Amino acid sequence: MGISRRSFLGTAAAVTGALAAPMIVRADGHTRPKVAVVGGGAGGATAARYIAADSGGEVDVTLIEPTRAYYTCFFSNLYLGGFREYNSLGHSYGGLARGGVNVVHDWAVGVDRDAKTVALAGGGSVPYDRLVLSPGIDFIEDSVPGWSLATQNAMPHAYKAGSQTQLLRAQVEAMPEGGTYCMVAPPNPYRCPPGPYERVSMVAHYLKQNNPTAKILIVDPKEGFSKQGLFEDGWARHYPGMIERIGPDFGGDIVSVDPAAMTVDIDGVVENVDVCNVIPGQRAGAIGHAAGIADGNWAPVSAYDLSSRMDENIHVLGDAAAQGAMPKSGFSANSQAKVAANAILAALTGSRAVPARFANTCWSLIGTDDGVKVGATYEASDEGIVSTGGFISEVGENAATRAETYQESLGWYDAITEDMFT
Ligand SMILES: Cc1cc2nc3c(=O)[nH]c(=O)nc-3n(C[C@H](O)[C@H](O)[C@H](O)COP(=O)(O)OP(=O)(O)OC[C@H]3O[C@@H](n4cnc5c(N)ncnc54)[C@H](O)[C@@H]3O)c2cc1C
Repeated sequence: MGISRRSFLGTAAAVTGALAAPMIVRADGHTRPKVAVVGGGAGGATAARYIAADSGGEVDVTLIEPTRAYYTCFFSNLYLGGFREYNSLGHSYGGLARGGVNVVHDWAVGVDRDAKTVALAGGGSVPYDRLVLSPGIDFIEDSVPGWSLATQNAMPHAYKAGSQTQLLRAQVEAMPEGGTYCMVAPPNPYRCPPGPYERVSMVAHYLKQNNPTAKILIVDPKEGFSKQGLFEDGWARHYPGMIERIGPDFGGDIVSVDPAAMTVDIDGVVENVDVCNVIPGQRAGAIGHAAGIADGNWAPVSAYDLSSRMDENIHVLGDAAAQGAMPKSGFSANSQAKVAANAILAALTGSRAVPARFANTCWSLIGTDDGVKVGATYEASDEGIVSTGGFISEVGENAATRAETYQESLGWYDAITEDMFT
C-alpha cells in the first residue's frame, strides 16, 4: 500500500470535514476554551494547526516552542547522503501564526496540573483547559558510558535535527582517506526504528563517492533491527565490504566511548575511530517528566484520544507517548495529533468525535533511487494502539518499484510538512 501527497492530504481533509462548524459552549463564563501545546514538531505543530483550523478560531491555541524554525529529523539522513540541501529541511511557524495559533518562542519548564498552567523559562505562564505535550525525546544519561551532552560535539548524536546534523556531515566530509565512521546504535525503544540504518546507508553513499576505502562500523545492542533484510541486501549490492555490524553476540551491548581519545571500547576491545555517531538510549522529553505524567521513560496514554493515563486534561503525542504498537515516527506523531485534536475539540466544543484510526509508513533510502518502506494501519483498544495490518518492501523488487517508492517518500515529505505548517 502506498501513499501519495494527494491521498495523505485527503485523509486530513476527511477529518477536517467531520469537524466543521463546532459549537462553542462554556459553562464557566469563558467564551473561548484554551488549548496549550508544548513542542512544535510533528505531533505538536499538527495538533495546534488542526485545533485552530477546525474550531474555526473558536478555541484559543497557544503553541510553545523554543526554536524559530523546525528542522525535520525526517530526511536529515538524505542531507547526510547528499540527496537534500540543508535548507530544505527547515520550516517556519509563520503559517501557524497566520492560521490563528499564538506561537510563543520559549521553553516550557513546568506544568501546574491543579492550576492548569504551563510555566515558561522566560517567566510567563500559559493557562489551559487542555494541554498537549509533544516534546519528542531526550537522552538517558549514562546510557553509553563516556558520552554526555557535554561531549556531543566530539561524538554527535544528530538525533535531534539542526546543528548536530550539520556537524555530523562536516565530520564525515573531513574523515581521512580510509578512515572509520562508527555508529553506536540505540537500544529499543527509540525514535525512528529504521533511522540509524538509513543513516548508515546515506553515509556509505557519500563515502563511496568521496572516500571509497573508508569503513563503517555499527555497534548495536539489539539482536535485530527494522527492515534488516532490506538494508543488508542493499548494503551488499551498493557498498560491498564497507559496512560491518557488531551485535550483542559479539559485545555490541557492552560499549563505552572516550570522546577525547576518539576510541570506542567494545567489550574490552578498543577501536580508534575518526567519526563516532553516538545515538544514546532515549526517553520522553524532560517536560513530560516535569509534568509528572511519565511512568519510567515514557508517558502512558489512552489509545482512544492520546490522553495521559495520569491526567485526562493532558494529551501526549508522538515519541514521548507510550501508546502501544505504533513506531516512534513523524508520520505516527502526525496521525496521533489528528486523533487527539478531534477528541479535544469534541470535549471542549461538543463537536462530533470520530473513532480513532491511525496510519504509519517509514520510508528509507538505501542508495540512489533505491527506496524501501514499512508501514501499517492501526486502531484503538483498551490495551493501547493495535495494528490492523501492515506491509513491507521485498528483497529482490525491481528497480522501477524501488524508484517509485523513493518518489512516494518525496511526496510524503511535502505533504506532511504542508500538513504541519501551512
Ligand atoms: C535521523 C532520523 C530520521 C527520521 N526519519 C523519519 C522518517 O523518514 N519518517 C518519519 O515519519 N519519522 C522519521 N523520524 C522520526 C521523527 O523525526 C520523530 O518521530 C518525530 O519528529 C516525532 O515527533 P514529536 O512531535 O514527538 O517530536 P519532535 O518532532 O522532535 O518535536 C518536539 C518539539 O518539541 C520541542 N520541545 C521539546 N521540549 C520542549 C519544552 N520543554 N518546551 C517547548 N518545546 C519543547 C522541540 O524543540 C521540538 O521542536 C526520523 C528521526 C530521525 C532522528
